[in-house]
Order: sequence, then C-alpha cells, then structure tokens
Amino acid sequence: MTPNSQGAAQTPDLPVHLTIPLATRIFYATSCLIAFLLLAGLGYRIVLNVKTWSWLAIVAVPGGMLLADFLSGLIHWSADTWGSESMPVLGKRLLHPFRVHHINPADFLRRQFIDTNGDVAFMAIPVLLAAFQIPLTSNTSIAAAVFVTSFSAVGLMTNQIHQWAHMRKAPGPIRWLQRFGIILSHEAHEQHHYPPYVQNYCIATGWCNRPLMAIRFFSRLEALITWLTGLQPRHDEVQFAQAVFSEKQTS
Ligand SMILES: [Zn+2]
Ligand SMILES: [Zn+2]
Repeated sequence: MTPNSQGAAQTPDLPVHLTIPLATRIFYATSCLIAFLLLAGLGYRIVLNVKTWSWLAIVAVPGGMLLADFLSGLIHWSADTWGSESMPVLGKRLLHPFRVHHINPADFLRRQFIDTNGDVAFMAIPVLLAAFQIPLTSNTSIAAAVFVTSFSAVGLMTNQIHQWAHMRKAPGPIRWLQRFGIILSHEAHEQHHYPPYVQNYCIATGWCNRPLMAIRFFSRLEALITWLTGLQPRHDEVQFAQAVFSEKQTS
C-alpha cells in the first residue's frame, strides 16, 4: 500500500484507470482549454451586456446547476447499471472507469486534471458554442443564456467535483463550497460507495440525490427497463467484480 498526495491508499493488485496515451492527452488538454475559454467568454458576454437582472435570470443560475446535477446522476446511473465495458468507445471511456472506481475509488485521485475532465470538456464544446447564439435582447433570452452558462459551468466541472468529493482534504475554497452544499460533499458522495452502489448517483451539486432517493426514481426506472427489455441491472458490473476478485484469489 502506498499513499498518494491526498493520503489515499493505493492497493497495487486492484484494477486501476487506464494509462492515457500522449495523443489522447493532447486531445484532452485542447478540449479543456477550448471549453474553459468558451465558458469564460460566455460569462464575460453576460456580465458585459446584462445591466439589469430579472428574477427569471437569477433563478436560471440554480436552475442550470440543478439540471447539470440531475444529468450527472442519470449518466452515472446508466453507466453503473447498463451496458458492458467491452462496448466500443463508451465501454472504454465511460463504463470501465466507473467499474474501476467502485472497486478502487482511491485510484481516481491519481487521475490528472485533463484526464479527469477531458471527455466532458469535449462534449461541452458544442453546447457552449450554441449558447453564444442566444441573443441577450429580452429577459427570457437572457435567462436562457444564463441557464445554459450555469448548466455548462457545473456540467463541465462534474468529474472534477466528483474527484474533490473523494479527497480527504480538498483545497480550502472547495471545502467551503462543499460545506455550504453548493457542490457535492465528501459525506454525501460516500453514501454511493457502499455496495451495491445504488444511492446518491448525482455527483455535481448533489442537490437531486435526496428527492430522487425519496421517490425511488432510479430503482423504479430500472424496474421499468427490466420489464420492457428483460435486461438485468448491474449484470456487467457484477461480472467485472467477480473477475477481479477471482483473479486475486487465484494469484
Ligand atoms: Zn457509481
Ligand atoms: Zn466516487
């Protein structure tokens, strides 16, 4: 066992995240740079042009954050529950990291910023570009631009927020945001990491976790999908875990 920079133990015989080739690292770095520049540009455009803030534009800020949180939960739940890590593209880029993350959560802290955020940054670019097309001419269109900017900001940072929630000691300002419930806290996310990993799927602000759990949103959705398709939830994840632990027993 070797401690990493956050003091989390690395267990050498558990699965780890794939090493990122140089070409992919360059792609991730470029995606992050473009996405964050676009986001800054969007924010600057709003600050520069909006002189009076309507209540609709103000509500759009938490509204965008809420949608980003809900989508983070929906995507996380989909990756945990359905599909196979052997699927092309999605299997390697989305499902495999979640499989590894459940068995070896400490390894997530080893991932660097561009590795953690590159895929999301790439997907955010079209959304950010589209947001520039929203005119800032009426209260409604300003609110729409604010909503998309707020959604994009939190969406873009989702994996980073998830990584911060795993740190024993996140940076000071981040701990403040966690403490005041603005982003996902360590304690809230910890609830997800108990097998069979069916609680608190939302990993951005964490605001949707409690209401979604209260109405059993994901378990009901699973039951509906199984009823419609006959597919069994978490089939691939169970196989992944069995393969890892049977390998450990035989080695
Ligand atoms: Zn999970
Ligand atoms: Zn996690």
